[in-house]
Amino acid sequence: MATELPAGTSCPLCDGEGVEAFMGRDQLMGLPGEFTYRECAPCGALYQAPLPDTQTIASFYPDSYLDHDQPPVTKPFGWLRRGVLASRYGYTALVNNGFQRVVGWLAGAVFYRDEISFNQGGPALDVGCGNGKFVQKLAALGWQARGVEFSESAANAGISAGLDISIGTLEEAEFAAESFNLISARHLLEHLPDPKRFMAEIYRLLQPGGRLLIRTPNSNALGRRWFGADWYACDPPRHLILFTPSNLREIARQAGLQEVVCKTFTSPKIVLNSWDYYRENKGSPSRKRRFKRLLARVYVVLAAVSGRGDEIFSVYEKK
Ligand SMILES: [Zn+2]
Repeated sequence: MATELPAGTSCPLCDGEGVEAFMGRDQLMGLPGEFTYRECAPCGALYQAPLPDTQTIASFYPDSYLDHDQPPVTKPFGWLRRGVLASRYGYTALVNNGFQRVVGWLAGAVFYRDEISFNQGGPALDVGCGNGKFVQKLAALGWQARGVEFSESAANAGISAGLDISIGTLEEAEFAAESFNLISARHLLEHLPDPKRFMAEIYRLLQPGGRLLIRTPNSNALGRRWFGADWYACDPPRHLILFTPSNLREIARQAGLQEVVCKTFTSPKIVLNSWDYYRENKGSPSRKRRFKRLLARVYVVLAAVSGRGDEIFSVYEKK
C-alpha cells in the first residue's frame, strides 16, 4: 500500500512524490530552525517541504538581507564587450568600426555569453530589480527599461538615480497585457512559492515575439552533488524551489513560452563559499587557501565539461 505523504509535501511543479533530500540551516543570515528539502522523483525539482506560507516567507528576509539601498553605479561597457554586443547580440549602435566588430565576434565564443539579444529593442521590465542596476544596464543598451521591486528602500535608491521603478510585487504593478518585449527575472524564481502562476503572468505581459530571461540556480549542478545542503546556492530557507533546465523548459512550455537559449555558468565564488560552509559544519574552518583555490579550479573545469554549472541562464519566447 502506498504511504500517504504529509500535506504540502508533493512537488509544486508536477505534483509528483518527492523524497527527502536534506535538512538545511540558514548559513547566510543565521535565522533559527532547520528546513527540509525534498527532491521530486518524476521531475527532479528540489523544493522546501512543506512550502511556507506568505507570512513565513516574509520573515526569511530581515532588513539586513540585501544591501541594495545605494543608487546603482554601472561602469561604461569596455571595448571588447561592445564588440561582442554589436556583433553577436545586435547592439549595432555601440560600435562603428569593423575591426572591433570582428574581434568582438571571435571573442564572443568565449566571453560575455550571457547577454540578451537586442532584436528591435522596445519596452523591457526587470522583475525584482533591487536598486535597478540591471534596469540601468538595459537602458544603456538602448531598451526602454523599467523595473519592479518589493523592497521599498532598494526601489527608492534606484528611483533617486532617475530610474523608472514601481514599488511592490509584479501583480500589484498591474501592467497592461502585452506591455513588454523583454522581461528579466534574475535570481527571482527560486524565491517564489508559485512559479507557474508567475509564468502565466509573464505570458500575459509579453508582446508576441517577446522574451523572458531567467537566471536561477541549477539543481543539477555538480556543486549540489558535491556539497548537498552546504552548496552555497541552496540558501535555505529563502530558496523555495531549485530547478533543473528541463523543469524550467516545462513550466515555460505550459505557460505558452518556448525555450530559445539554455546555458549553465559556474562561479568560483559558489564553490569557495560552499567549501567554507562545509568546513564550518565540521567544526574546523578551512585555512588551507591553496587547497581551496585548487578545488575551485578543478570544479570550474569539471562543471564546464559536464555542462552542470551552478547557474542556469535561459531565454523563452512568446510565439
Ligand atoms: Zn516534480
